[in-house]
Amino acid sequence: MTSIRQQVLDRLASLRLHQRHGRRAPHKPLLVLLALGRLSDTGSSELPWSEAEARLSKLIAEFAPASRTAHVQRAAYPFTRLRSDGVWTLDHDVPMDSVGPLTAHDVVGRLAGPIEVALRQDPDLLRAAARALVESHFPPTIAPDVLTAAGLDPNEILHVPGAAPAAGRRRDATWRLAVLQAWDRQCAFCGYDGQLLSASVGVEAAHVRWWAFDGPDTLDNGLALCVLHHKLFDFGALGLDSDLRIHVSTAFTARTNVGRTVYDLHGRMLRPRPGTPVPAADHVSWHRREVFKGEPLNA
Ligand SMILES: [Zn+2]
Repeated sequence: MTSIRQQVLDRLASLRLHQRHGRRAPHKPLLVLLALGRLSDTGSSELPWSEAEARLSKLIAEFAPASRTAHVQRAAYPFTRLRSDGVWTLDHDVPMDSVGPLTAHDVVGRLAGPIEVALRQDPDLLRAAARALVESHFPPTIAPDVLTAAGLDPNEILHVPGAAPAAGRRRDATWRLAVLQAWDRQCAFCGYDGQLLSASVGVEAAHVRWWAFDGPDTLDNGLALCVLHHKLFDFGALGLDSDLRIHVSTAFTARTNVGRTVYDLHGRMLRPRPGTPVPAADHVSWHRREVFKGEPLNA
């Protein structure tokens, strides 16, 4: 017999089944994380639509792929549809995706009874569930931001002793080093190559197609990026076009001269050393479709 702990984790892990063909669909996981944040804060996951609408819209705008659908509609989708996964209940029987009835009754959502009870009784289970959810939908650069925005403490959740990361493929332990070497230990976007004594500091290996979405640990799916540009790339503020020119999103804004140096990257070509494989076309197009936010600057 499976333990209740395992049942809760399995049920939440199955939200991943909605990801098909590498399409990102983090809407339901974001709602569950919001409910977990509420539960750990107040002891109840109850979330009235009047509050969920604003918070969930913000999470979706920030962490889901860009979309032309109205914010409120994008929040109504997980708020009503998560019911069909057996982890969420509403206090009114409202139709799927409709905003009107949610607003009219200020419908209250909450995690399904047995799941909420199990999570409340076992804070380690709550942390393990949040960790598994965030790690299976987001890369490590973004996971702490997602948790913070959902009202959870990333330090508690991502560094729990004994909480195993989501099961799955094995990582290639040599990939990071190989990527840094292939790009001369400098940021492929800005050229930053700082060292502390003899070690690179602040330059990381970035996946173009996220590892959690079947992005392989290969050189044609890797870029060396400074920590700032890695984060902006994973958030979709920076991207690449099919000619491997850097794109800056119109969604990114900065006011100071330092912040505005990001604009200067727009249109710059990647220039790896001879022999270094450039990112493969299908990984680049995955990033453009699933991660890059909105439109590139018009310059
Ligand atoms: Zn950089």
